[in-house]
Amino acid sequence: MDLDHTTPDAAAPATTSGADAGSGHSAENGAAPDQPRISRSSTNFKRLHRRLAREMGKAIADYSMIQDGDRIMVCLSGGKDSYTLLTLLSELQRRAPVSFELIAMNLDQKQPGFPAEVLPRFLDKLGIEYRIIEADTYSIVQEKIPADRVACSLCSRLRRGVIYRTAEELGATKIALGHHRNDMVETLFLNLFHAARLKGMPPKLLTDDRRHVVIRPLAYCAEADIAKFARGMEYPIIPCTLCGTQPQAERAQIKAMLQNWERANPGRLDTIFHAMQDIRPSQLADSALFDFAGLEGQREAMPDRSDDAPVFEHYSSTHALFSFD
Ligand code: SF4
Repeated sequence: MDLDHTTPDAAAPATTSGADAGSGHSAENGAAPDQPRISRSSTNFKRLHRRLAREMGKAIADYSMIQDGDRIMVCLSGGKDSYTLLTLLSELQRRAPVSFELIAMNLDQKQPGFPAEVLPRFLDKLGIEYRIIEADTYSIVQEKIPADRVACSLCSRLRRGVIYRTAEELGATKIALGHHRNDMVETLFLNLFHAARLKGMPPKLLTDDRRHVVIRPLAYCAEADIAKFARGMEYPIIPCTLCGTQPQAERAQIKAMLQNWERANPGRLDTIFHAMQDIRPSQLADSALFDFAGLEGQREAMPDRSDDAPVFEHYSSTHALFSFD
């Protein structure tokens, strides 16, 4: 079992092997009503805006997410993350050295009470090309999943299918999703704890059928910053409880655990995220990833790493005797 989906902005679960967004929402979907407003003209907001734009630009550059001539389909769910992504990408489009097109896409899953007029109104005002796809995945999920079970897995699979099909119809060369750094770290722990796999959510991926490239330009952005930005922008957030499914308990637990860690040790999330960018296969135990069997033969070929920064191996009293960094 792969627990690799998350709920960016939305419970728009997305797998590491696939796209997902366009509809569906999680509890952290929008700006919480009890949070203070932040004025768009304030210095703090401008600073925040610049930071998010800078972080997104860096992620795009680091992972070569956008090339000249790309046509990028931005999955818009009506949640804070995808609104922020669309805003920042359209700003980037105006000043980027490469030329690329944007087309927003929303999937109307026919959830009861979905305010179908909200996104078209927003997108018309923004003057951005868009496509709203109507697909009643809600009824299929209702029919197949008992009311007391979490429906996200099937729901996201169905949604992914529609997203891929739409990307092809629109001639999109990239699919952009609103997942952020917190989503990526949470997914890592979900897989670690519940799927016994060291696997997260990459900033850029090729789908299993090799037909689509999915990008996550907000990979370096913190959820709290995005939430604050969304409040300042006063996006017309679509409520996050329309599907009526149970919240995914495992993800909520991981989220709470990470928040506690962050409170006790500020910066811990950052550290974990950086660790995701600095993997040492030879210091783990996956023989498919590292040739342990042929290690002896690699003596000559392997670089001398004796000058590497200290690595914490383990802390038993025998550490001094048996630590071979
Ligand atoms: S069932 Fe609801 S919460 Fe789960 S993915 Fe679908 S829309 Fe999102």
